[in-house]
Order: sequence, then C-alpha cells, then structure tokens
Amino acid sequence: MFNSEDELRRQVRDHVEGLKSAGVEWLPAGPPIELAFGVAADAPPCGANGAGALTGAAEGAKSEANGATLDQRRQALRVLAAEVKACTCCAELASTRTQTVFGDGGPGVELCFVGEAPGADEDRQGLPFVGAAGQLLNRIINACGFKREEVYICNILKCRPPGNRTPLPSEAANCRHFLERQIELVKPKFLCALGGCAATNLLQSTLSLGKLRGKFHDWNGIPTIVTYHPAYLLPHRSPEKKKDVWEDMKMLLARMGRPIPAKT
Ligand code: URA
Repeated sequence: MFNSEDELRRQVRDHVEGLKSAGVEWLPAGPPIELAFGVAADAPPCGANGAGALTGAAEGAKSEANGATLDQRRQALRVLAAEVKACTCCAELASTRTQTVFGDGGPGVELCFVGEAPGADEDRQGLPFVGAAGQLLNRIINACGFKREEVYICNILKCRPPGNRTPLPSEAANCRHFLERQIELVKPKFLCALGGCAATNLLQSTLSLGKLRGKFHDWNGIPTIVTYHPAYLLPHRSPEKKKDVWEDMKMLLARMGRPIPAKT
C-alpha cells in the first residue's frame, strides 16, 4: 500500500532504477506484456500464495507466455529477475545473501531442472548449480545428450539459506510465485525436480522422494519427473544412487522421444 503519491512516485523510480541496474533497457508494450506488468503489480504479498493452483501472477505469466515471442519472454524473465533481486520478503535470507540466484538458461528449452536453493558457490557467483553438485548435474545433463546451455536450471528458493539449511515452508511459499512465473515464461516441455525439497515444493506434495520417483507428474500441464539431488550423489554421500538417477533420466528421455545415449 502507498501512503502518498510521493511514496508511489519514489517506489516507481526505485523500481525503474532497479530494472536498469539489472540490465533491462526497455519495457515492451502491447497486450501480452501489458498483462505481465499488470500481474507483477498484483503479485501476492509475502507468504500469501495459496497451495496447489497457480497464483494469479503465474496465471498471468502463463497467458503472457502463450502469445509472446521468445524475445518478449526473455525480456519478461529479465524483468522478473530484477523483481527477485529487489525482494526482501524473507528478512533473514535478504540480509544474509550476497546476491539472489535467479536461473540459468533461456526460454523455449525442452527441459528445466529445479533444485532446492543456492549454496555458497551459487551465492557468490549468482548462478545456480555451479559448485560440486553443479559439476555433477552438468555430467547428468551431458549424459542425456544435452549441453548445459540447452536446458534451463533454477531453484525453489532464489536466496541461499544460511549454512545451507533446508528452506523453511514460509520461504518456499514466499518464493513460489517467482518460480511459477519463471517456469511459465521459460515454458519448458518437461520438468525435472532434483531432490525431495524441490519435488515436494514444486508438486505441492507431502509424499517422500521414493514415492514420487519413477513416474510422471503434472505441473500445470508440463510432464514432470523427480530424481535424487546431485549433492546426494557425491562421493561422501550415496554415489550408488547414480544408477537410479540414470533410470529416471532414461524414462524421461524415452518420453521426450530422444535417443538414449550409451552410458560412458
Ligand atoms: N543445490 C541446489 O539445490 N541448488 C543449487 O543451485 C546448488 C546446489
């Protein structure tokens, strides 16, 4: 709520400056994008997202993405990233983060991976999955026959939880409308949730990872699979689960109609 016209002016000026510093040079006009900015202004306040159905903001992003060119979606994603950058909904995360970590990749890809939250390396570099787990994710992506640039990667949370603790339900709820709008704008043909936290938050499910694996779920019309988090596959944890991840990936590739590369 704005207490005065001056306050409104100040907030609009700050927002535009924020967009400029995030590299946004222009704001597209026209019906599809007009809608996006309409919904962005209506974005739910912190923690006010309902579970299950898409939020109003995400519904807006969905209709926006439906009529938009790739360039318009790229631009809308930049605007969304700038919104994320300015977010202070989770006071602890906003005060401890080095920077927000929005996502890696562009709209229109076939496959989007959704992880849990940035770790220390990601917080430092501003990109998801760039640490040890990221190296392993890169190998999984390559084993599937993709280059990293050919997929989209993001997280449930856009800020690093201190000490890499598990995201709180309230933090996931605060960030949910960003994730929904992000996925609607990227519009991948398939989604892959990495680990239990990503899976239960993305699918709004209380089932265990074990129960969610091995089948396709529906995320707002997008076929979605669930697999182990790459950090869980690292040598000091459970590297023997790599073969299960490969089974999940083969199931995904078959449904995508892609060749299944011989495992190296
Ligand atoms: N783990 C995650 O879930 N996401 C990252 O970006 C890095 C590690």
